[in-house]
Amino acid sequence: MLDFNNTEIAFASKSNSELGNAYLLFNVMKRPGVVKFGKFASNIALSIHFPLGWIVKPTLYKQFVGGETLQDCTKYIDLLKRNHVKSTLDYSAESKQTPEGIQATFAETLRSIDFARENPQIAYAVFKPSTITTDTVLSKASEKREDLSIEELKEFREFRERFMTLCRRAYDNNIRILVDAEDYCFQDAIDELTDEAMRQFNTKRAIVFATLQMYRHDRMAYLQRIYDDALKTGYYPGIKFVRGAYMEEERKRAGEMGYPDPICKDKQATDDNFDAGVSYVVDHIDRMELFMGTHNEQSNYKLATLIDKKNLDRGSERIFFSQLLGMSDNISFNLAHNGYNVTKYVPYAKVRDVLPYLLRRAEENTSVAGQTGRELRMLKAEMERRKKE
Ligand SMILES: Cc1cc2nc3c(=O)[nH]c(=O)nc-3n(C[C@H](O)[C@H](O)[C@H](O)COP(=O)(O)OP(=O)(O)OC[C@H]3O[C@@H](n4cnc5c(N)ncnc54)[C@H](O)[C@@H]3O)c2cc1C
Repeated sequence: MLDFNNTEIAFASKSNSELGNAYLLFNVMKRPGVVKFGKFASNIALSIHFPLGWIVKPTLYKQFVGGETLQDCTKYIDLLKRNHVKSTLDYSAESKQTPEGIQATFAETLRSIDFARENPQIAYAVFKPSTITTDTVLSKASEKREDLSIEELKEFREFRERFMTLCRRAYDNNIRILVDAEDYCFQDAIDELTDEAMRQFNTKRAIVFATLQMYRHDRMAYLQRIYDDALKTGYYPGIKFVRGAYMEEERKRAGEMGYPDPICKDKQATDDNFDAGVSYVVDHIDRMELFMGTHNEQSNYKLATLIDKKNLDRGSERIFFSQLLGMSDNISFNLAHNGYNVTKYVPYAKVRDVLPYLLRRAEENTSVAGQTGRELRMLKAEMERRKKE
């Protein structure tokens, strides 16, 4: 029986002191003022190269990051394996806009794809397209391609080459690869390349996965286009669903630049869109594969129920549930305990490089209604349960 309130299963891998530390951390993160100040202070510290490891490593980093290197992550891969959960190692260094930084990220992402080939506990490889080019090139290629200078056109071609190389390496290694979704101003170019990569590499099975942010009201139409194209040209789409991480910025930018808001009118509309997308892929699961990334309990219950209602095999590799390391263990471990496929995103990178990711997590835990309250409630319940043992 699937019960996300079973804290004994949810926290089986955590010692008493780890539970206590997580409780303290979520307690701090629930205060928006503290998180805002932390973001402000860390941006200043970054710009003046002030060392941050001493404060970030034992707190946010320890909770949400697997380590600095692929090798460091093996302890989490083993821990997750003991709980029947697979890993998706995510090189999370962001905002490197120099040619050397981009090249280093590209090389590390290739290493992560090779690492995945050698480890059956790794469910997917993953990359964030903006980390292998500059923001200027990606936004111009998406929104105003005619504005690209000759030099930028060359950079765009290099980006395309890196993008396809990552997908080809995944294909050669027979490992599925998720293309993360990003800001609206980058996404058209990412979609175009993802469609091309799916046509090229998904001819026998889904290797390349497009990410659809269902807070966008145009994503069902895009899903339908992918499906029609797949039937016409003969490939197997991989679809990753998320709600979307950049809502506030998107609304602000649309307002400032005077284009229509790309986001659904309210949370309910996003939830309905999300459910519709997931159901669509489950209805076409003979042709498509599904990856659902969410910490929303209802969405996870709904998909689990749908799988059972349709008599699909809970362990079939065509459907995966996913949460981020350090969040919603009650969902991940209880789903896995009941035989569903689960993978945790395990981010890795040096402290300074992973800071934007960590600040997003801290903000998300402040702003996502109920998320921090739920983590705190679960941690407290487990600490109480252990006291009574
Ligand atoms: C494994 C995994 C991979 C991820 N990969 C990506 C990725 O590639 N790209 C990406 O952008 N994000 C990604 N995310 C983050 C994701 O998009 C969400 O920001 C995050 O998971 C919170 O949404 P939820 O479904 O978990 O929870 P919920 O609490 O159910 O949903 C919160 C989300 O609902 C939407 N929302 C909230 N209020 C409103 C409103 N008023 N109107 C309209 N919509 C609203 C927003 O998207 C908000 O983030 C990933 C998350 C996970 C777990």
